[in-house]
Amino acid sequence: MSTFKNMSLTLEKQNVPVVAKSDVVVVGGGAAGVTAAVSAARNGCSVTLIERYHHLGGMASGGMVLVLDDMTNGSEITVTGIVDEFVETMKMENGAVYPPSEDRIQSQEMWRKWSRWGCHDFHSKLEPMPITYAVAFDPDAWKRVSLKLVKEAKVNLRLHSWFSDTIVEDGKVKGIIVQTKTGREAILGDSFIDASGDLDLAIAAGAEHSIGQYIVTTVFRLSNVDTDTVEKFQYECPDEYRKIDRQARRIIGGAWDLWWLKTPIPGIVWCNCPHMTGYDGISVEDNTAAEFDGRARMWALYEFVKANMPGFEKCHMLGAAEQVGVRQTRQLVGEYVVTKKDVTSRRHFEDTVCRGRDYYTPYRALLPKGVDNLIVAGRHYSAESEAQKISREIPPCMVQGQAAGVAAALALNQNTAFRDVAAKDIQKQMRAQNADPGDKPSENAS
Ligand SMILES: Cc1cc2nc3c(=O)[nH]c(=O)nc-3n(C[C@H](O)[C@H](O)[C@H](O)COP(=O)(O)OP(=O)(O)OC[C@H]3O[C@@H](n4cnc5c(N)ncnc54)[C@H](O)[C@@H]3O)c2cc1C
Repeated sequence: MSTFKNMSLTLEKQNVPVVAKSDVVVVGGGAAGVTAAVSAARNGCSVTLIERYHHLGGMASGGMVLVLDDMTNGSEITVTGIVDEFVETMKMENGAVYPPSEDRIQSQEMWRKWSRWGCHDFHSKLEPMPITYAVAFDPDAWKRVSLKLVKEAKVNLRLHSWFSDTIVEDGKVKGIIVQTKTGREAILGDSFIDASGDLDLAIAAGAEHSIGQYIVTTVFRLSNVDTDTVEKFQYECPDEYRKIDRQARRIIGGAWDLWWLKTPIPGIVWCNCPHMTGYDGISVEDNTAAEFDGRARMWALYEFVKANMPGFEKCHMLGAAEQVGVRQTRQLVGEYVVTKKDVTSRRHFEDTVCRGRDYYTPYRALLPKGVDNLIVAGRHYSAESEAQKISREIPPCMVQGQAAGVAAALALNQNTAFRDVAAKDIQKQMRAQNADPGDKPSENAS
């Protein structure tokens, strides 16, 4: 093994065909990237969106992260925009479930009705936790809606294209290189949005970054679960349930209290576990090891609940998510770095263009230093590791994407660098397009 450890090869330069050229090029078709691409296209830009896998949605679909949360501060819904189009379209197709406003209260009855959908305020110290606006959804519905919105907006979508390199001249990105089955391809553009989640494009373009890490999870689903029976057992025999549940969580070795949640398809539950520590989400070796580790643990849990937990007797292993659940890898060190204190103290910024639950993201946190025509959106935004862990949910990542798309259109129209686009212009445009940019702080903001 050690004989090749410090070896490297110099490869010959290649002739790479240019396969697309557009005003805006978006790397990564997750929740943030799709929203960014659709937003830029709706604001008049020609857009190319590249994605390494065969589906859109990233963690939200391929990673089977199946609840949209962080959308309300308790008294008001704080996240709006393209995310609402996803929710309502999926709901029409029976692919999304959320509590009606009259159920969003704190009561034992509502807890029983909604907690197994993941629609509770898990930041609350109250017992039971209040029911809140959160949305349980089906991963395939998410993929369908993503394709629909991208098609309607006339985005040039190129799947199966793995970003591998960038062409930078005089502090500007001129193009990107993607690896495909048929070889390397070049895509040229005027401005670029990095929504890869791992900052692949920004780092290749020379942007400063920090290294972070958090638990990784091979999310999986079980089918044919009699959820009524499990819930009846949970509430009518709480001590017995707790005993079995505790053993189940010990077997999986890392899970939240509510490790199984309902999905819009009856009998199918998603299991947001096992949580595994010490894996680097961008390392080939670690991601491979996580696959072995995660699948062994999920099978052990499956066998245990099938044998011991009422309601799971006839369940089947439906399988793990297509993508290992990676929460954090590399964070931009941009024009502003959001701190944990900013998030927990609900600090409002003059240039806020996005908000989650009750936290605000300034435009500067999407901007790399030193690269003019590049912006980022999504979980790799400019934040301390500890800040990102509590502010990286799907809905705010989507609002970042919507803001980045609007900013790209403004930068193009004004023939200016991203950092010279006025945040108030982005805020105004987002409001006109039904997205809350967080420009008006809530009462509890500091
Ligand atoms: C297990 C788990 C549980 C979570 N629980 C919740 C929850 O309950 N609710 C919630 O709202 N959020 C939750 N989160 C957080 C949330 O899922 C993510 O922060 C969010 O989905 C990130 O979206 P994104 O678009 O920024 O990144 P991603 O979803 O990671 O999307 C990045 C996209 O870029 C593509 N890509 C990456 N590199 C390349 C490349 N080199 N070339 C081409 N394409 C590339 C990827 O394939 C992917 O499609 C959870 C996360 C995990 C992992």
